[in-house]
Amino acid sequence: MDYQKILNTIFLTCSSSKDRGEVASYIPELANIERSKFGIHLIDSGKNNYQAGDAEHKFSIQSISKVLSLAHAIGLVGKTIWKRLNVEPSGDPFNHLSLLEMENGIPRNPLINAGAIVIADILVSNLENPKADFLNYVRKLANDTSIDFNLDVANSEKKSGFRNYAAANLLKSYGNLKNDVETVLDFYFHQCAIEMSCSQLAKTFFLFMNHGTCQQGRTYLNLSQVKRINALMLTCGFYDEAGEFAFEVGLPGKSGVGGGIVALLPNRYCVATWSPGLNIKGNSKLGMKALEKLTTATKQSIF
Ligand code: GLU
Repeated sequence: MDYQKILNTIFLTCSSSKDRGEVASYIPELANIERSKFGIHLIDSGKNNYQAGDAEHKFSIQSISKVLSLAHAIGLVGKTIWKRLNVEPSGDPFNHLSLLEMENGIPRNPLINAGAIVIADILVSNLENPKADFLNYVRKLANDTSIDFNLDVANSEKKSGFRNYAAANLLKSYGNLKNDVETVLDFYFHQCAIEMSCSQLAKTFFLFMNHGTCQQGRTYLNLSQVKRINALMLTCGFYDEAGEFAFEVGLPGKSGVGGGIVALLPNRYCVATWSPGLNIKGNSKLGMKALEKLTTATKQSIF
């Protein structure tokens, strides 16, 4: 498969597109990102790398970090996390609160904000130096020590994260948050503020297409754990547009309001795109288009 040729064609179509959506502005620090950026990077199962556009430009991974925190929590404490979280798609935006109240403080899944805040609580309880240890975990998966938090983004979100404070307080009132709201949210805002390029992101997610074993050959997750995480990406990875993503693209993946999307085809490849303009559901407009073109051109998807 000539992935480079396919990425070049996708880049040409996407970079000339005028219809790019809107850059997220509810986290003030993210509002200034240039809408004209577009990057794509693919790593195949043989660890060959292909890219086009701004694939080495770092951006805020935001909600994409929820998959990494989930993987770390599952690796540390296993199935017990499912006592505190459900695994159903919410059909609602990432920061929706009413379901949490109706379902007695058990978040619908670990990829919406309330669920990711419970995972953050589990990591705060189980890691010695939570922020540093989590960053180290991500660096190891990526095999790249240059990956870091953007502290301006973390602080910007701390000042404007009213709905996340509401979710954390609601969780606390139901007894589903063991640590202080402030400590857990500080961790959560930092994990979301990790910056990566498409190239770093695709390499970091290599283990999810490779049975739980990262690029360096170290195994972090067993087959059953990887199956479950990929299932959650497929059903819950795109806010209330997971159905549309499965329909158009046909791969498990995760998006973030920074405009990144990472997706994977088990045993074949892992791909990351970045374009900061979002559609009305909060997913990168060009990223979705690019991935639809990829699975159409390669004639490969999980279906
Ligand atoms: N840090 C963002 C928030 O909690 C993540 C949103 C996202 O990327 O979906 O609002």
